[in-house]
Amino acid sequence: MSIQIYNTMTREKEVFKPLTEKKVGMYVCGPTVYNYIHIGNARPAIVFDTVRRYFEYKGYEVNYVLNFTDIDDKIIEAAAEMGKEPKEVSEKFIQAYKDDVEAFNVKEATHHPQVTETIAEIIDFIKGLIDKGYAYEAEGDVYFKPRKFTEYGKLSSQSIDELRAGARIQIGEVKEDPLDFALWKKAKENEVSWDSPWGAGRPGWHIECSAMSKKYLGKTIDIHAGGQDLTFPHHENEIAQSEALNEQTFANYWMHNGYVNIDNEKMSKSLGNFVLARELIEQHDPNIIRFFMLSVHYRSPINFSDELIESAKNSFERIETAYQNLEHRKQVSLDLASGTDEWLDRIATYKDEFEAAMDDDFNTAKAISVLFDLTREANMYLQEDQTSTKVLTAFQEQLATLLNVLGVELNPEAELLDEEVESLIAEREEARKNRNFQRADEIRDLLKEKNIVLEDTPQGVRWRRS
Ligand SMILES: [Zn+2]
Repeated sequence: MSIQIYNTMTREKEVFKPLTEKKVGMYVCGPTVYNYIHIGNARPAIVFDTVRRYFEYKGYEVNYVLNFTDIDDKIIEAAAEMGKEPKEVSEKFIQAYKDDVEAFNVKEATHHPQVTETIAEIIDFIKGLIDKGYAYEAEGDVYFKPRKFTEYGKLSSQSIDELRAGARIQIGEVKEDPLDFALWKKAKENEVSWDSPWGAGRPGWHIECSAMSKKYLGKTIDIHAGGQDLTFPHHENEIAQSEALNEQTFANYWMHNGYVNIDNEKMSKSLGNFVLARELIEQHDPNIIRFFMLSVHYRSPINFSDELIESAKNSFERIETAYQNLEHRKQVSLDLASGTDEWLDRIATYKDEFEAAMDDDFNTAKAISVLFDLTREANMYLQEDQTSTKVLTAFQEQLATLLNVLGVELNPEAELLDEEVESLIAEREEARKNRNFQRADEIRDLLKEKNIVLEDTPQGVRWRRS
């Protein structure tokens, strides 16, 4: 089966055809690093990491590029408020971003370009656009002319005249047309800046992604991804810049994730309902948050509430408990021959179903429902009078492998059941009575490893979990 991707550009699911066989080049728009990320930023980090993991599971080599906007008005403002240099602010929040997404088990990108390290490429890009007549300098600023790029608006399906009606020129701007957007911004007094053919200044926002994408992935890339809110104007502007200069398609597939709501309301500054990723990590297991995020298809909006996360936790525990019960059962299982193959065949079909769901535009919601079916099947098998080690292991491996594709981790440390602890304690007493101290010590160490604390009391041995 081949992977199908919903392409925002064509508004259709299309069969994924990579530029180079078994390779994927992916560019994901990253954060502006002036604050801790909120869960609206965590969603693309998790969903596109899952896309990447699925490609890797299918044998593709993925070149995953995620940029950091490390210079911009918000960073300059935040630095002034904190009495720091912009660089100190951006470095702090780049590290914070990396820590937060790592907690969600997001793999490190292949490349993490930063604007301040890509200035030369950005200047070259802008020069090329001026040479071709798509951009012009005005009093130290440089602007791009969308009207000159005849396909402007194709990603967000808007015509240039519709867009023109809503555009205004801000006071102090010297644009030729209200639609024109800045590629280079002249430095204000005492502001951090870089030299350029147009004087001291710094890049506008949109140009960085065009320049970085070209630097790390080439003129045409396989997949460009980001939050739905970036479709316009950011991605529309990236397309105009890149295709005007390079004269070839910028990205073959455009993927956008849906919005995040909090308690059924849109997250917004005015409502004051922003939830930082690190606050959430303090309150809930990040592994569960990831599982919850993936329980909804990436293009649909997702609603966050404590109750919904709690319910995701309970659902995930059903899978985990089954996994651990399979582990316990191994201790009393046999190397059965009869009936085994039938079960192994059934387990294998879940892999096909899981892949069919993921092949269909990364439908993680459906893929997770397949995992619940597999869990139900495992629980049915555990009802059998006799179980085979081979089948138990196959169930476990299938659950772990498929969850791993989603980046969700199982706790392999099965907790000892109360009756198991008690029977081990009884065995230890017996061993001591028979002066078999070696066995008694082995059991003591095993219990200690499982965090069981033993206390000798006049009434006998008491135990508790630490
Ligand atoms: Zn971007």
